Amino acid sequence: MKDSADNKNSALHISKGKSMESNINKNFKRKKRPQRSLDEFLKGILDGNRIILSQAITLIESTQSKHQELAQQIIEACLPYSGQSLRIGLTGTPGVGKSTFIDSFGQIVLAEDRQLAVLAIDPSSQLTKGSILGDKTRMETLSVHPNVFIRPSAAGASLGGVARKTRESIILCEAAGFDTIFVETVGVGQSETAVHSMVDFFLLLLLPNSGDELQGIKRGVMEMADLIAINKADGQALPAAKLAKKQCRNGLHLFPPKQSGWVATAELCSALEQTGLNTIWQHILSYQNQTTINGYFSKHRQEQAKYWFEESIQQQLKHLFYQHPSIKEIFIRIEKQVVEGQISPFKAAELLMQSFVN
Ligand code: GDP
Repeated sequence: MKDSADNKNSALHISKGKSMESNINKNFKRKKRPQRSLDEFLKGILDGNRIILSQAITLIESTQSKHQELAQQIIEACLPYSGQSLRIGLTGTPGVGKSTFIDSFGQIVLAEDRQLAVLAIDPSSQLTKGSILGDKTRMETLSVHPNVFIRPSAAGASLGGVARKTRESIILCEAAGFDTIFVETVGVGQSETAVHSMVDFFLLLLLPNSGDELQGIKRGVMEMADLIAINKADGQALPAAKLAKKQCRNGLHLFPPKQSGWVATAELCSALEQTGLNTIWQHILSYQNQTTINGYFSKHRQEQAKYWFEESIQQQLKHLFYQHPSIKEIFIRIEKQVVEGQISPFKAAELLMQSFVN
């Protein structure tokens, strides 16, 4: 083979060819796109421009203070145009079928001429660097639909940080005209509480065999649910799913009545075979109708605003505290004394607070 390749008469001979000047301009420098102005952002978002909406959410997620400043201005400017959507939280363990569910359920929502935004809170994304929604192909039908906006969770931040950013992103999505918002979270702990604090309706997805697991599901999560959907209620899993539904309904009866006046229940569905989804949608619409009439819908939103206000103060105070030069200076020394038992943690905290206040 080598011989043939070296032989000039051989068809396999490889000609060296002529060296060519690279056509890459070495002096070319990519121009940095100038930052859009507040007005440009606002106009773009109100026009429903997805690219500008995405860029604004990226600003919200940025840790740079100049980005954060602009992001806060954008949020303030969008606030008067927000609040008109139905916000639905969705939680469930990995593999329960959340993305398949959203993909199928979204079709029902879209059939009503709604505009759908899907946001995610993923506490694990900072560990895996992946996101539950990072891979858009997980929602194949929705991701190509013109009336849908999918935004994965911001990675690398604390749960509190991601939750706040998602809450702020909701405002921008609403200003951009999205009237139905899904906030998805992996049910692995505190993220459900975070989602619950920003949505109107909270949907818990469970597996058909979860009847036995019900004990294991945190009481608090079940108590938060406005509806439990037993997903994968298809094929051989159907009998188990029916049993789980019964067990869930019994379990839900044991909780005290909800402030909303809404009575939570359990239903069966198959995201894959697209059954039971319409019933779930009807429950959500009834909830909205009932709580709008009894005033809970807006009261709940007011309470959520209060929660985020307090949460935000706490976060900012904490930030101010730890960034304070005098705290930075003595923190490590005092922490060491606490660890070595030379000073009680309470006294140490008091000393630091005094130093901060003074
Ligand atoms: P997620 O991790 O909660 O987002 O779950 P996925 O949506 O990625 O689904 C996990 C697996 O369950 C996938 O293989 C899906 O095809 C499958 N799945 C989802 N929904 C259903 C369903 O209703 N029935 C059945 N049989 N499988 C489903």
